[in-house]
Amino acid sequence: MKKILLPSFLLLSAMGFSQSLVQAYKNRATQVTQTNINTLLTDFTSYGVKTTGSTANNNAFAWLKSKYVAFGYDAAQITENAFTYNSKQTKNLIVTKTGTVYPNKYLIVCGHYDTITGPGTNDNGSGISIILEAARILQNVSSEYSIKFINFSGEEQGLYGSQAYVTNVVKATNPKMDIILVLNLDEVGGVAGMTNNKVIAEKDGTPTYPTNGTYSTYPSSNNAASTIKTTELKNSMLNYSNITPVDGYIERSDYMPFEKEGYVVTGLYEFNESNKPHTANDTYVNMDPVYVYNIAQGIVGAIQHFSTADTSITLSANAVSKNLSDRVSLFPNPANNFLNIGLDGKGFTTTIVDMSGKTIMQSKDQQDLDTSKLINGIYLVKITMGNETTTKKLIIKK
Ligand SMILES: [Zn+2]
Repeated sequence: MKKILLPSFLLLSAMGFSQSLVQAYKNRATQVTQTNINTLLTDFTSYGVKTTGSTANNNAFAWLKSKYVAFGYDAAQITENAFTYNSKQTKNLIVTKTGTVYPNKYLIVCGHYDTITGPGTNDNGSGISIILEAARILQNVSSEYSIKFINFSGEEQGLYGSQAYVTNVVKATNPKMDIILVLNLDEVGGVAGMTNNKVIAEKDGTPTYPTNGTYSTYPSSNNAASTIKTTELKNSMLNYSNITPVDGYIERSDYMPFEKEGYVVTGLYEFNESNKPHTANDTYVNMDPVYVYNIAQGIVGAIQHFSTADTSITLSANAVSKNLSDRVSLFPNPANNFLNIGLDGKGFTTTIVDMSGKTIMQSKDQQDLDTSKLINGIYLVKITMGNETTTKKLIIKK
């Protein structure tokens, strides 16, 4: 998706904020790991240009399916929705978790996995990585409403995958599918080298653009409900991530076929808009994996909020022993000539890489690092201890 910038953005006002943080939701949000996000983005990229119906597109589909199986979803939960584009077959992948109280009411969390011209690490490896990480964390968590994680194909040529799903599945049942909300993630990868700390929360409305009149045929009866749900999405971002939501409108992505049917939709889109999507340069080095990691935490919180997930805190082995990511701190950050790695214990390796992935420094069991030779910019600090790795963003500012 490409977005035309809004003339101005309204910052969310904290006034009237009433959605309180749920500790169990927060605990699960912090189970997102930078390592998983990095691996998912890299794996997604490795399949190449995933044009709808191509071999790369089918290979990516098989990879997606294997991930859900590995997370513990069984055959009955995983369904495929095939359609034909340009005389080639391609498939949407749908993974369903059944709700305990409202099994026939669905929260849909979706994003497209097809790409065009390039490998699409940002558009939309970012959204797909977040959906996968959320599905992993929530696999064992019960919720009152059912959740569908949907990976659409055919988006780039004109929302063909989401339209096929709405036509052949959502509307094919009588009564038609009861969807409480469609939450779409498309292009939330940000821009390498920029401070990516805001995200556009997209509500349904009548934007002042585009001028081609596309939106005139869309219903407005669902706009008010979208505004309410989008406010809840913004509150979830504030509660469960360090990303600040900014107001915007839905446009040209997989929520549109649902919107046209009168369903309530919302979505997220990057605030710093990359100019790389739909080019061969939509790659890992040109986006911000730390931004994806941060947004993923907010989304894990939001999915639990919208689906009314279990609020009890289970003391699993993971919860008791803090994971490496929580034990590591960088100080100061931004840093100038020195950096302190806050971590107790021995046996850790620190690697500092620049945004092109080049290793700049490496040390072992060293807490005070001389960073006087690093030039201004954003770096990734990877810390490995035992079989755990965590990655933090470091800013050098002199
Ligand atoms: Zn997209």
